[in-house]
Amino acid sequence: MTTPSSEQSLITSVMNKNIVCVGPDTLMIDVIHKMRDNRYSCMVVAENNSPVGIITERDMVRILSEIFAQKTVHVDMRAAQCMSYPPIVIKESASLFEALVIARARGIRHLPVVDDQDQLCGLITQSDMMRAHLVLIEQHRELIEKLVNERTQELEKANEKLRALSLEDGLLGIGNRRAMEADLEHTHATAQRYKRPYSVALFDIDFFKKYNDHYGHPAGDQALISICRFIQSRIRTADRLYRYGGEELLLLLPETTAEGARLMAERLVIGLADLCIPHETNPHRYVTMSGGIGYLQGEPARCASWQDIALQADQALYQAKQAGRSQVKLTLLNDVVTTPPAEAVVAACERRAAPTKNR
Ligand code: GH3
Ligand code: MG
Ligand code: MG
Repeated sequence: MTTPSSEQSLITSVMNKNIVCVGPDTLMIDVIHKMRDNRYSCMVVAENNSPVGIITERDMVRILSEIFAQKTVHVDMRAAQCMSYPPIVIKESASLFEALVIARARGIRHLPVVDDQDQLCGLITQSDMMRAHLVLIEQHRELIEKLVNERTQELEKANEKLRALSLEDGLLGIGNRRAMEADLEHTHATAQRYKRPYSVALFDIDFFKKYNDHYGHPAGDQALISICRFIQSRIRTADRLYRYGGEELLLLLPETTAEGARLMAERLVIGLADLCIPHETNPHRYVTMSGGIGYLQGEPARCASWQDIALQADQALYQAKQAGRSQVKLTLLNDVVTTPPAEAVVAACERRAAPTKNR
């Protein structure tokens, strides 16, 4: 998609082809009548159709001033005596831009156009050139505007793709699922190779649908942001928090045993209750969460992949929900460990709720 520039646009597309010219011997009175009748601002003087001079309004003013100065009337004055010569002409193959440059540099407003045999074939005026030039500029402006719009749309699409490919969750500012999978893959492989432990704690906010229903979705978003900030303020730099999906968060704890993960999850569950984010439709009246632990610890054969560890955590989380929420479940061999004791969460909520205690 292009539009021609002044350099590419030929003057033949702009020039006036229906020109009237006079011979050098034409009486000036006839020249003047022709100019008056046809409303020409100049007259090309040609011999055998080849321009030999040009009579412009400026020439007319010059002649008139000479006539008045001598107080004589030259009734038999000829075109050759009044014309400017040699005329500045331009080839028909020239560009509009060249014509503009010549007209400006020489201070002229009319340019006779000639063919390869120097035969007169048109006339171009400065106003023709300016008009054509302005049309071209306008076409270019429209073209550039269109291109800019197209590029902007392409950039917006590319940005959207980049966002999707990025590793951060847009709302919570923590790692997204893609980041989580990559990090779990790496942590699992390293742990297996060096026979090191690692754990994951999967958290799910309790009764969060009810929270949204009661306080509205934007408030739900803010609550999620607060919960993430809280968790991040309590974990070690080596630990990583990810959005597992919806209101579920996965905490990756490298070099951490199942017992270490249980303790950490316990502190977080109690700590969140202790934050006392109001939640009218939660039996505790505050926002709480449940958690499930998955771990790799001396049993590589049983946990062939990080997906197994995540599944283990998911099943433990399900048990925590089934058992009444606001607690963490950990399955050790055939033993299910529950943490924290239900009273701890109740106590955390009640501490804040108690009006007499100033904390
Ligand atoms: P449970 O205690 O069993 O986990 O109940 P729940 O209501 O939390 O669970 P459920 O799966 O029924 O509902 C999860 C809710 O979390 C519904 C969904 O709209 C909300 N949710 C998920 N992601 C977001 C989010 O980014 N912002 C907000 N405001 N709500 C979210
Ligand atoms: Mg959920
Ligand atoms: Mg939930």
